[in-house]
Amino acid sequence: MISRTDTILSVRELRTEFRGGRGNVRVLDDISFDVGRGRIVGLVGESGSGKSMTALSLMGLVPRPQGQVSAKSILLDGTDLATLSPDGMRRIRGNEISMVFQEPMTSLNPVRRIWDQVGEPLAVHHGLGRRAIRDRVLEMFELVGIPEPKARLEAYPHELSGGLRQRAMIAMGLICEPKLLIADEPTTALDVTTQSQILKLMLDLRDRVGTAIIMITHDLGIIAEMCDEVNVMYAGQIVEQADVFDLFERPSHPYTRGLLASIPKAGAARATKRMPSIPGMVPNLAKLPPGCRFGPRCGDAMPVCEQPPGLAGLGRGHVARCWLHASSPATCAEGAAS
Ligand code: SF4
Repeated sequence: MISRTDTILSVRELRTEFRGGRGNVRVLDDISFDVGRGRIVGLVGESGSGKSMTALSLMGLVPRPQGQVSAKSILLDGTDLATLSPDGMRRIRGNEISMVFQEPMTSLNPVRRIWDQVGEPLAVHHGLGRRAIRDRVLEMFELVGIPEPKARLEAYPHELSGGLRQRAMIAMGLICEPKLLIADEPTTALDVTTQSQILKLMLDLRDRVGTAIIMITHDLGIIAEMCDEVNVMYAGQIVEQADVFDLFERPSHPYTRGLLASIPKAGAARATKRMPSIPGMVPNLAKLPPGCRFGPRCGDAMPVCEQPPGLAGLGRGHVARCWLHASSPATCAEGAAS
């Protein structure tokens, strides 16, 4: 476990379950990680690995009563979010912790002017009047590099390009100066040039504003470019956790190695006509394989892998959930397969 004294978020043993007619399905199992002040921490994995569910669980946005979130603790700068009431969470959300989603159009109201929406957290959390909100939104538009910001205040969402809408969403996410911003695939819906501009903007804002960021992505290229630490997720668990340099230098879980092998390399795809990929699919969480959840897709599987592996420390905060490194099975607290 990577731990630091200047930690803004400390998540311990986060579990999220959904109740259904055929019983409970645990979609997150023993998620524990830290985010240092002003650091960028990545959550990476394929669709269905639990990255976005982790974000929704931290934000208190898992639909109830079907969804149930529990945790030993979720400390945001000393406040335990795991013990807050829905009202308490509403006071924190958008103020101390905020989120930017993949497709801004789904988060924006098409019939409200953009400044009114971007400034809404200031009205909700700080009771500011319209004049003060408009002035602050203008400042934020300048900060996030929206050209002709004064003219753009009055625009409706459809009058902005996808890149400008995402800049506006980042402005909204940062307008209350949150301690933590969660960015869920913030550039996936954008073209490559705009993607790179938005990523640069986020790095720049981290340096200037000092907000810590959780970066959710399926793209290891973005992780390499942006993140200080990385959590690799698979089937609702963290399977590897490391400093970004360590992860790329010595990937230790077979799943991480598979993800790294599937990054396109110049010339390689043309030579083989095929991109290497991890065979098989992320398992259905209602029908998990016994033992290691990656077992059915793993080329290194051994008989012992029919037992759930514990987390093994590999030094310098690097851990992997794999029998290639572990010497004992998962304990309850480590999220043994349920
Ligand atoms: Fe592969 Fe076994 Fe490690 Fe799972 S525990 S990733 S099956 S080697």
